This record gives sequence, structure tokens and C-alpha cells, in this order.
Amino acid sequence: MTQSNTPRKPHAIISGAGMGGLTLALALLQKGFEVDIYEQSPELREVGAGLWISANGSRVMEKLGLKKELQAINLDPEDRVIRFWKTGEEHSVYNRGATDSKVDHTLIQVLRAELQRILYEAVIAIKPGAVHFGVRAVGAETMDGRARLLLDDGRAIEGDVVVGSDGAHSQVRQSIFGAAPARYTGANAWRGLASMARLKPQHQRALASTWVGPTAHVTTYPVQRGGEQFVSFSAQVDSEVWQTESWSERGELSDALRDFEGWNQDILDLFINSENLFRWGLFVRDPLDRWSRGRVTLVGDACHSMTPYLGMGVNMTFEDAYVLARCLEAQPEGVEAALERYDSARIARANRTKASSLEMLKVFHDPALERIDTGRSYIERNWSPEAVRQRYDWLLAYDATAVEV
Ligand SMILES: Cc1cc2nc3c(=O)[nH]c(=O)nc-3n(C[C@H](O)[C@H](O)[C@H](O)COP(=O)(O)OP(=O)(O)OC[C@H]3O[C@@H](n4cnc5c(N)ncnc54)[C@H](O)[C@@H]3O)c2cc1C
Repeated sequence: MTQSNTPRKPHAIISGAGMGGLTLALALLQKGFEVDIYEQSPELREVGAGLWISANGSRVMEKLGLKKELQAINLDPEDRVIRFWKTGEEHSVYNRGATDSKVDHTLIQVLRAELQRILYEAVIAIKPGAVHFGVRAVGAETMDGRARLLLDDGRAIEGDVVVGSDGAHSQVRQSIFGAAPARYTGANAWRGLASMARLKPQHQRALASTWVGPTAHVTTYPVQRGGEQFVSFSAQVDSEVWQTESWSERGELSDALRDFEGWNQDILDLFINSENLFRWGLFVRDPLDRWSRGRVTLVGDACHSMTPYLGMGVNMTFEDAYVLARCLEAQPEGVEAALERYDSARIARANRTKASSLEMLKVFHDPALERIDTGRSYIERNWSPEAVRQRYDWLLAYDATAVEV
């Protein structure tokens, strides 16, 4: 019998089929790795309403060959505006501001579930059955030179590398680095999705808007699924009352209307017409200074869950996934060294983004926004072309597909 000289494909075991897990799986499958993903949900679930993908994230999607698919689920904004909470007065950020930046400030606006669907379809087109649904991980370890994902049914799945992309409450993170206590930021979040058909005509403008007020702000933008349009919105409001840190906790309309008393009717209409309302507490964890231990590592919210104020959570996750795939490709025989390279390439940038995102809360909520006269100059100062470039250019210019690793 002849023995094959083909080297064994390195095998990656991934916990969590969210944005990070599926992106990493696709990148690794395209690079010739064997991949299996273990996802706790019994199926892909609708979570998270809309998402913005910015240039740093869409570069990764394009490299993965998903440009056409992404365009098909996108709903292009014609402008990005900051609006005064009471009157809706607009201050354009794109058209007046960032166009003189050398960096691409384009936003792609999608439903999270649609994004997850195109990633999932691309993964199973290469490896049908790559995602094992209804399987919950409880931890991971390195033993005898192999990586193991530990499941709650007692099984241990062995591979060359284990990646925890199991979100902010990551079991993989907890098992390799211990508990990471979460601190309440002092803000509650709301999110919802309102069908365009139920809203007034002014909602039909394709604007990516952030309405800012003294103690709250609301980001709204249109998204679509199969041609049907919705307005996706997420709101943050200062509150001493803590809520659970979960994107899928239901909220009551009466509480939302109390939180946004005095706000422009266009904002209240979004809450009133939303199919479901969700409310949760925004928490932060201390930044990690290591993401990898032995043959186990982390991507996405598992290692840098952040406040949504810069719209960077998913974009950082795409960057992590692609850089990790490149590090593993460069050193398939030396997984531990590859993971060290990954840590060096990613941690400082992700932690800076996490810190900058938290700082934005102070910008979005300010007493100067109480009145229109002081509010107007506050908005013009804080969203001047220079301020926007300073806030975003370093984020958007990064290219995970080419950066040195
Ligand atoms: C309302 C809202 C709006 C947002 N808007 C933006 C935006 O505009 N731009 C942006 O960049 N980011 C945005 N984000 C953040 C973004 O959604 C996250 O940063 C991103 O989804 C992180 O990807 P992930 O793969 O790390 O985690 P997730 O996508 O959350 O996936 C984690 C997966 O792991 C699974 N899992 C969890 N535990 C286990 C376990 N023990 N075993 C097995 N599987 C497990 C989960 O079921 C899930 O499928 C937003 C978030 C929210 C809530």
C-alpha cells in the first residue's frame, strides 16, 4: 500500500458561529485548513438588529470574496448626520466633513442576521456540516501538544488550535484567563427594528443618523431584507438602574417612552412602531493583555467586548479573524508561535478602540445639548471635519489583509 505524502491539514476548532467564528472559519477554509465550529444555539438566530460595516471591516469581506453578497444586503446611506434630540436639526458629517479625508468613510448598513447568513452560506459551500449546532462549550485547554474544546456533554474535541469566538460571556476566555468581572457603564441600551411601511415619509431618507441629547443618544439607519425596508435603531440612556448584560432581554414600551420623554416625535415613533423592543445594561471589562494561552486563543467580543459608540465591535472582530487566519497560515506547524504573533498584531489596536469607544459616551451625552443654541455649537465643534477625521481615520485606514503580522 502506498502512503500519501500530502501533509495533514491543520485542524481548527471554533466555539461560536457568530460574526467572528464564521469569518475565521471561512478565511481558514479558504487557506486549506480543516475547520469545525460548535455553536450553542440550535440554529442561526435573529439577534442584534442592524450593524454598520466600515471600510476596515469591508476590506476583510472583500478579501473573502463576499463583496457582491454584501452589496446585495446593504442599504447605502446617502449621508451620515448628527441630529439635535428635540428638533431633529441636522449636521452633515459625510458630505461636509469627511470627504476631504484620504480615508474611506463609507458605511455598509446590514441586518446582523443577513450578514450571518451570507457568512454561513459561504462556509458551508466549502464544507457542508462545518457548523455543529446545539453544542455548548464550557472551556478549552492545551494537553499533550493538542488543543481541546471542552463541551458541556462531557466530550472534548481535539484539534491543532481552539478559538473562542463565543461572545462577551466567553466560556473559553474564562477557562484560560479566569473570570473577567463586568463593570456597569452607567448607561442602558435599547434597540429595535421598525418596518418602514409603518413610519412617516421622513423616515424613508437613507440617513445614518445619531440623535444626541443631554443624557441619551439614538442611532438610526435603514436596513433591508429581501427588498423589505426597516429602520434599525439603538439608543443609550444614562441610568442608575442596572439591566442584565444581554442583547435579547425584552424591554417595555412604557419604559422607553419614559426614558425619551420630550424627544422628537420621530424618535418616539420608532419605539412605538418597533416589532420588538430590547433593553440591556452596557457593561465593560478590563482590557486583556493576552488573548492566547498554549494552543487556545480568542477573537471578537470574547477578548474585547466594547461599547457600541464607534460602531466598531463587528469590524474589530472581522480584523481579528483575518489576522489570526494569516498568522496560522504563516506558521501552521508552530501554532503557539502563530498565536503569539496574533497577540502582538492585534491587542494594542483592539484595546485602543475599546477605550476610544467608551470615551465617546462623554461626547454623545453633554449638558450643552440641553438647549438648541449651545447644542448647535457643541455639535459643530465635536463633529467638525477635523474631529471626525481624528476620531475615525486611524480606525478606518487599517487593512487586516495586508498589515504586517
Ligand atoms: C444592537 C447592537 C448593534 C451593534 N452595532 C454594531 C455596529 O454598527 N458595528 C459594529 O462593528 N458592531 C456592532 N455591534 C457589535 C457586534 O455585533 C459584535 O461586536 C460582534 O457580533 C462580535 O462578534 P463575535 O463573533 O465576537 O460575537 P457574536 O456575534 O455575539 O457571536 C458569539 C456566538 O457564540 C455563541 N456562543 C456563546 N457562548 C457559547 C458557548 N458556550 N458555546 C458555544 N457557542 C456559544 C453565540 O450563540 C453566538 O452565536 C452591535 C451590537 C449590538 C448588540
